[in-house]
Amino acid sequence: MRQSPNIIITGTPGVGKTTHCEALAERVGLRHVSINQVVKDKECHEGWSDEYQSWIVDEDKLLDAIEDEVKAGGCIIDWHACDLFPRSWIDLVVVLRVDSTALYDRLKARRYAEAKLQENLDSEIMEVLLQEARDAFDEEIVIELTSNTSEEMESNVDRIEAWYKQWKIDNSADSA
Ligand code: ADP
Repeated sequence: MRQSPNIIITGTPGVGKTTHCEALAERVGLRHVSINQVVKDKECHEGWSDEYQSWIVDEDKLLDAIEDEVKAGGCIIDWHACDLFPRSWIDLVVVLRVDSTALYDRLKARRYAEAKLQENLDSEIMEVLLQEARDAFDEEIVIELTSNTSEEMESNVDRIEAWYKQWKIDNSADSA
């Protein structure tokens, strides 16, 4: 049994995953597991895709690379996919959502090529990652939060912190 829960923050690129994870790591002391970083640092990939401008992830290698750390608990996992993680590893899945105009501006600021930008906007509008999360995990552990403004981000972080504290109470040795 882990002493601390594992949370995934997922959503289309640009929704605010990294910003939320960093705030939660600082505020709550969860360990920020940036899958992007792990894929790069531990070479959990089969090369670079020019078409997608991203690494082609070797999922088995990635899971092996993070297994010990995640099983220990207390991780906040930052990645735009969630269906590769074993259900038994995860206690909460947060899917961040954003309006098209805000997402357009954020991806434009990142200098995304037009085709990639459009693909991500479509994916957000079609709720692709929300559906993926709902298909992969129990409905009760998947929550959808909006991330359009810094006020919304603050309230999301408050809410996740409150959830975390409640999890600790519910799963402490004395409550068994
Ligand atoms: P992701 O990790 O999902 O790709 P980031 O956390 O890198 O997204 O955020 C992308 C950009 O959007 C950053 O410039 C960040 O400051 C900004 N941003 C993220 N969330 C919000 C929010 N809730 N309100 C305003 N700006 C945000």
